[in-house]
Amino acid sequence: MEQALPSAYADLVAVREKLEQHYADMQDIEFTVQQNKLYMLQTRNGKRTAAAALRIAVEMAEEGLIERSEAIRRVNPASLDQLLHPTLDPNAPRTLLSKGLPASPGAASGVAVFNSDEAEMRAAKGESVILVRIETSPEDIHGMHAAKGIVTTRGGMTSHAAVVARGMGRPCVAGAGGLSVDYGSQTLSAGGKTVRAGETITLDGATGEVFVGTVAMIEPKLSGDFGTLMQWADEIRRMKVRTNAETPLDAETARKFGAEGIGLCRTEHMFFNPERIGAVRQMIMANDERGRRVALAKLLPFQREDFRELFRIMAGLPVTIRLLDPPLHEFLPHQDSELQEVADALGTDIDAMRRRAAELAEANPMLGHRGCRLGVTYPEIYEMQARAIFEGAIAATKDSGKAPVPEIMIPLVGIKRELEITRALVDKVAAEVFAETGVTIEYTVGTMIELPRAALTADKIAEAADFFSFGTNDLTQTVFGLSRDDAGKFLPAYVEAGILAKDPFVSIDIEGVGALVRIAAEKGRAARPGLKLGICGEHGGDPASIAFCEEVGLDYVSCSPYRVPVARLAAAQAALGVGVDRTA
Ligand code: PEP
Ligand code: MG
Repeated sequence: MEQALPSAYADLVAVREKLEQHYADMQDIEFTVQQNKLYMLQTRNGKRTAAAALRIAVEMAEEGLIERSEAIRRVNPASLDQLLHPTLDPNAPRTLLSKGLPASPGAASGVAVFNSDEAEMRAAKGESVILVRIETSPEDIHGMHAAKGIVTTRGGMTSHAAVVARGMGRPCVAGAGGLSVDYGSQTLSAGGKTVRAGETITLDGATGEVFVGTVAMIEPKLSGDFGTLMQWADEIRRMKVRTNAETPLDAETARKFGAEGIGLCRTEHMFFNPERIGAVRQMIMANDERGRRVALAKLLPFQREDFRELFRIMAGLPVTIRLLDPPLHEFLPHQDSELQEVADALGTDIDAMRRRAAELAEANPMLGHRGCRLGVTYPEIYEMQARAIFEGAIAATKDSGKAPVPEIMIPLVGIKRELEITRALVDKVAAEVFAETGVTIEYTVGTMIELPRAALTADKIAEAADFFSFGTNDLTQTVFGLSRDDAGKFLPAYVEAGILAKDPFVSIDIEGVGALVRIAAEKGRAARPGLKLGICGEHGGDPASIAFCEEVGLDYVSCSPYRVPVARLAAAQAALGVGVDRTA
């Protein structure tokens, strides 16, 4: 155009410049040229990918077109997710299985799983899972959430899988028609190669390729425009951002992403490790306290090393460790072959295993014998964990010369006395370990607020707590009376029908759950001024919920490692007063 229509071109450049200055944003311009004369038809703010949005915002601020705070406002925190996924190392060897549509960017490796319930179950145990479906439907949401990546053999770029995966920031290959999925035999095959359930595959959502096995990846670049915007965000935000992590890898990833500590270490994940699960099951099978203590003594060195490693990685940043939370039967195997294996290892028989499993079975385990109720009835479990924390912290101090400050967190407290009893256990063990080692370290003991009764009696509970962390997953479950594990079956229909504007397990229900958070924060701080308040439910990584946390005055949010940058930006936007979305 510059050569063919030089005068119209010069006009266009001038008008574009003017429009961009006027709207202080990148413009999507429509124009026509007739008899060498330029006519403008329309202009609007241009649509952009996450990477482009980031670059435009940073460059405009650097050119002085907009303020830095405006640059922060302009980037959608949720979109950062797209930039944070690893990509395949171009030099890594690979075996192509098939190719589909590049439906959602990012690369992921994990074991192939063919249904959403299993994806969720395996992910809960810490496995990386790739959900493979012919196509997905709203019933698969929980599996898609749990999976690191999604592959479908049917459907296009606007299929359910593609749209939902992009929204979630999950890598996805859709419509890979060359792949055949057989749910019956739980296999995935193409071109003479077959992958069975539980075998590893890798997908590249940017190219649509699916590979057999693992392919080496390279981590995303966190420098450049991304680093600049994050730095500006950090200068503005008030709330700290921590991470939910229990593995060294997650803790390290989160630190790279800027986490300022661990807000939730779910210790039960450490128990599923194959080296320990035997001792965990021995503890569960024991008939009395003495038997449980024998098994717990085997777990102690593992837990101590787990914590020592986390303290080392977090290098003096706060580390909140939650004592055991889930009902014990979650650790028992379900299939006969596994039961037999455990019975052999424990020198017992399969009938005894079945009897114990039947004893432990509960009609409603989420409201059953879990959380601090375990610590109250089997104090030896919490004693072992407390000992592992203190011994790990003292060892870490010797390693680095820097003493960590463990924050020990008691789950599912609803009654002040529960916290007093479990706290006394922790204090007793601390005194023992300090006397044995001659070393004293600082620590705090606090509680999760995840039951309505805890929120409503927060002033009482605060008398025994150094901090509160809102467990908004359980709090949402108990406030709505809505099972976390079953809601996926009908909640999408509620959202579709407009009964709820959004899934309350994803974005906090400000009207109901939020009201209890507010009550607990106010009562807690009235009883104990300066009480530290955080959130560690999934909402801690959701921008709309983070805006609410700012409004209530929480000290920090804690979220999964890959959401740490999302939370840093969202916390900055919240500090700038980007409003809370109150659509119910
Ligand atoms: C919660 O309930 O919000 C929480 C963080 O604990 P979990 O998800 O482990 O129950
Ligand atoms: Mg909970």
